[in-house]
Amino acid sequence: MIAFVLRRLIQAVIVMVAVAFFAFLLFPYVGDPVVFLLGQDAKPEQIQAHRALVQQMYKLYGARHFDRYEFLLALTDKLGGIGLEHQRSSENSGDTGYFTEWDKTWLGRDLLPHEFNHSWNGKYRRGADLTTPNFNVPMGDSLLWLYEGQTQFWGQVLAARSGLWSPQQARDVLANVAGTYDRGRPGLAWRNLQDTTNDPTIAQRRALAFRNYQMSEDYYSGGQMVWLDVDGVSRRHAVIRIDAADRAVIEDLGSTNGTFVGGVPVARATLLRDGDCIRIGTVELTFRAWVDTPTKRIARRT
Ligand SMILES: [Zn+2]
Repeated sequence: MIAFVLRRLIQAVIVMVAVAFFAFLLFPYVGDPVVFLLGQDAKPEQIQAHRALVQQMYKLYGARHFDRYEFLLALTDKLGGIGLEHQRSSENSGDTGYFTEWDKTWLGRDLLPHEFNHSWNGKYRRGADLTTPNFNVPMGDSLLWLYEGQTQFWGQVLAARSGLWSPQQARDVLANVAGTYDRGRPGLAWRNLQDTTNDPTIAQRRALAFRNYQMSEDYYSGGQMVWLDVDGVSRRHAVIRIDAADRAVIEDLGSTNGTFVGGVPVARATLLRDGDCIRIGTVELTFRAWVDTPTKRIARRT
């Protein structure tokens, strides 16, 4: 019995030593983020990129719903890989060379931005069928293309904005994802992105044969492409107004990606006609105009 207790004690000590090698990054709500690092030396510019991540996320959302947020980042090859989001914290693991081999381990550095983004997108605000009154009601995943797709998008954009990635690294990753959809994916002919949210239940993250035909958890990468598309539209992009002569006129409001009518860039106020094709970012709209024509009144007998 004593041997058993001793063994347990030794195990506990080993676990505590292992914990000491984890890096804890704690970012309190008030003031500048504070970073505590245990076990691995990090260069000031590496710490700065993590501080910048917090500031950039606050700029992105403009508001915080928590008093404090904590990242647990385990740099170890003794535990399985994890990235698990909560509203006020996340549990993450990274390569043992996370800080010491910064240039070689960059690919995994969008993990913290991804999980941090979930505090807003997924936890503070979540898909309608994911919000259940209690744990006896199964949660629905129909909006994971938003929950994960938009988070995948912002996670990688924020990795670049914070300096965890260089702008070129972020572009390369986006281009690589876009390249896999560029020539169409056969699976999209029978399975839409929303349906791929069922994939973890069906396939349980096992390796799949005929990946392009079966599809997989495409709600991450395909969703990311949707939100990349959406981001091509500026907040104040274009306006359609009725002028003094009762005609519809479209104007571009200095948008980043421009407004097009019939394929022609809108450089100045442009007259719209019924059936005109307007393009804003990658979104195409058809302009329809109806003229009210008075109909003959039919006398009604009573
Ligand atoms: Zn996620």
